[in-house]
Amino acid sequence: MLELKYKELPYGITCIESWYQSEGIACCYLLESDGQCVLIDTGTARTTPLIMALLEKRSIAKEQVKYIIPTHVHLDHAGGAGQLMAELPEAQLVIHPFGARHMIDPSKLQAGATAVYGEEAFNQQFDTLLPIDATRVIEMEDGMELDLNDRILHLIDTPGHARHHLTVWDEKSKGLFTGDVYGGGYAEVHSSNGRYLMPVTSPVQLDPPVWHETIDKLLTFNPERVFLTHYGMLENPEKYAQQLHKDLDAYVEMAQGLNAENRYENLLEQITDYHMKNIQAHGCDLPRQEFERLIAPDLVLCAQGLDIWMQRQEKS
Ligand SMILES: [Zn+2]
Repeated sequence: MLELKYKELPYGITCIESWYQSEGIACCYLLESDGQCVLIDTGTARTTPLIMALLEKRSIAKEQVKYIIPTHVHLDHAGGAGQLMAELPEAQLVIHPFGARHMIDPSKLQAGATAVYGEEAFNQQFDTLLPIDATRVIEMEDGMELDLNDRILHLIDTPGHARHHLTVWDEKSKGLFTGDVYGGGYAEVHSSNGRYLMPVTSPVQLDPPVWHETIDKLLTFNPERVFLTHYGMLENPEKYAQQLHKDLDAYVEMAQGLNAENRYENLLEQITDYHMKNIQAHGCDLPRQEFERLIAPDLVLCAQGLDIWMQRQEKS
C-alpha cells in the first residue's frame, strides 16, 4: 500500500494525497461536520485504501460518510469512486448529470482511457473502474444544497474544463472546491508573488468561452479560498482570476494561429514556452527539471484538448 499522507486544514477539512502519478500532483478532501462526513474527489482506486486508513485513524465509522462528490469524471478525480462506494455502505454519490451514466456503467470511460494511456499504463495507474448502483447516485442540479448538520454545501454547475464539472461551495470555510475549473497549481511552484496557477485544457469537452463564464460565476460567491485538486488550499483566489482568463485567451490565440497539420506538436511547444516564460516572470526559482516533472503531463493535456476543440470547431 502507498503511504498515507495528509494535511489538516482549518474548518474540519483534510487534504489527502492521492498518489496520482507521483506525490504532490493530485489530492482529495475529507470534510467533517458534526458526525457526518463528505469526500470531495476520490483520487484513483489506489487512493481508496489510504482514505479508509485515514477514516480508521480518525475513528470515523464507515456509515458516517454520507456523500462522495467527484467534481467531474476525469479519472484523477473520480477513478476511485466505485471502490469507495463499495467500502462505504451509507454513502451516496453526488455527480453532474452529464457524468452520472459513466459512474453507473464505467465501461466507456475505461475503454476511452485505455485507448489514451495504453492497457498496461491504465492498469498500473487506475486499476479498474467499478460500477456504482444507480439507486445510490444523485444527479446534481445547479444551486442544489446538501445539509450536513452544521454545514451546508452548495453545488454549482461549472462547465468549461468539461461539461460534467461541478464545484462545491462550502459556507463554513467560505471556500470553493474547484476540481479543475480554477486551474491547477502545485505547492512547489510559487514565489513571493504567490502560487502559479494554469488552466489545464484537457480533452475532450473543453469549451474556453464557457470556461470564462464559469470563472466569473465562481467569483460571485466572494470566495476567501479555493481548494484545488491540483493542489491544496489557496487563499485570496480572486487575485488569480485575471491570469486564468489571460491564459485561456492566449491558448485560444495560439490554437487559432496554427494550421491543422502538426497542430498538436506545435501547440505543445508553444504552450510549454509560454509557461516557462511566465513562470520566470512570476519569480519562481524551481529548477526546470522539477517544474517539468510536475507540469509536463498537464502541458500534453492542454495541447491535446485545444487540438480536439479546434477540430470540433472546424467540423461545425
Ligand atoms: Zn479534469
